[in-house]
Amino acid sequence: MYFIGIDFGTSGARSCVIDAEGKLIAEDARDFGELAEFERAGIWREALWDLVTALPPAIRTQLSDIALDGTSGTVLACDEALAPRHPPLLYNDDRAVDEAKLIAKTATPGHPAAAVTSGLAKVLWLKKRLGLTGARLYLNQADWLSGLLTERAGVSDYHNALKMGLDLDTLKWPAWVDSLADAGTLPTPVAPGTPIATVSRSRARYLGVHPGCRVHAGTTDSIAAFLAAGVTHSGDAVTSLGSTLVLKLLSDTRVESTEHGVYSHWFGARWLAGGASNSGGAVLRQFFDDRQLAALSEKIDPTVVSLLDYLPLPKPGERFPVKDPQLSPLLTPRPADDAEFLHGLLESLARIEARGYGLLAEFGASPLRRVETAGGGARNPAWTRIRQRLLGVPVARAIHTEAAYGAALLARDGLGLFKSAS
Ligand code: ADP
Repeated sequence: MYFIGIDFGTSGARSCVIDAEGKLIAEDARDFGELAEFERAGIWREALWDLVTALPPAIRTQLSDIALDGTSGTVLACDEALAPRHPPLLYNDDRAVDEAKLIAKTATPGHPAAAVTSGLAKVLWLKKRLGLTGARLYLNQADWLSGLLTERAGVSDYHNALKMGLDLDTLKWPAWVDSLADAGTLPTPVAPGTPIATVSRSRARYLGVHPGCRVHAGTTDSIAAFLAAGVTHSGDAVTSLGSTLVLKLLSDTRVESTEHGVYSHWFGARWLAGGASNSGGAVLRQFFDDRQLAALSEKIDPTVVSLLDYLPLPKPGERFPVKDPQLSPLLTPRPADDAEFLHGLLESLARIEARGYGLLAEFGASPLRRVETAGGGARNPAWTRIRQRLLGVPVARAIHTEAAYGAALLARDGLGLFKSAS
């Protein structure tokens, strides 16, 4: 019996098949390439079919469960049969300026649905463009793709639903979402990992999978990557050191602060607290390529404190741990020695990470116990040691960091993934 997770990320889709022990059985990927707006939905659907049918029959016919993750805030308007009525709006589409303002006036103060890139802002933007008749359903990317498998659309998960306006107290669409968007045109929110239905008969035949293969409610790509790291204790965290710096901490308490860019996601009886900084690897790339980063890092003594105190932002503006759209980068003085410069950059980034976790603790999150690391920066041992010095807890590189692996765990464990270890 096998379990498959499929990740729809920013640039492509990846699949990961695991067995009951979590051993990796197969993985595969499809790049989307440069897509015109109208091609997106079709290419995603093709990637989904392709990633399943490309599996050897011995694996494909033994798939018992499937779960998908998608980029959060990517929204499609579609009809009853899931045919798109408008090209999907991507996670970073920021055209819904007026709609976001309207949401901010109506929503619970500080709700993430008031952001210009939120799913709800996109739903309202699409409704305005599509006119009176509108579309039957407005779905997140993962909802739509899961719906294609079951041919029973209309379900979302609490993670993807947050940016569409989910109320975390009731786990339902609040009245203000209904008044703005008509909850009847939104998917029904359920817990991530909930078994929704089996793959429809005709799809199962087309894909060559067992008709009893269950489809589970999915999650977002960044939460799937968190799930991949497999942390289970409150106080365990995953830092993603990719182009940006993203912190996620498993917490017994829910923490939120709009002024600091701090938010929490549903995680069963617990919470997934976090924040995302604009600083991160993208700044390092402005000065060094990956080969230089590795070579220069070997010259750094991580036990020595760098006195260079930078603000390594790629451009003005920060979201977390300080929210300030005007905050200017500070990358001077630059010493003549490149290793010394990099040491200052890595240490300054580690200070932002430590400040971030410190802030979560100040807001009452579970105390930090250990940090797993994902992303390109995870392969830098000197940086890991600098971070460990500043964070004061064990820091390691996560064994699994692929979102598709996290989605496969969601397929295998379903709701069990959100049970407290105790
Ligand atoms: P993305 O968020 O774009 O998916 P990745 O997880 O692929 O990012 O990580 C890419 C980032 O990792 C780059 O911005 C690069 O600066 C950084 N990086 C790559 N190698 C190293 C290294 N040895 N030390 C520190 N950072 C690194």
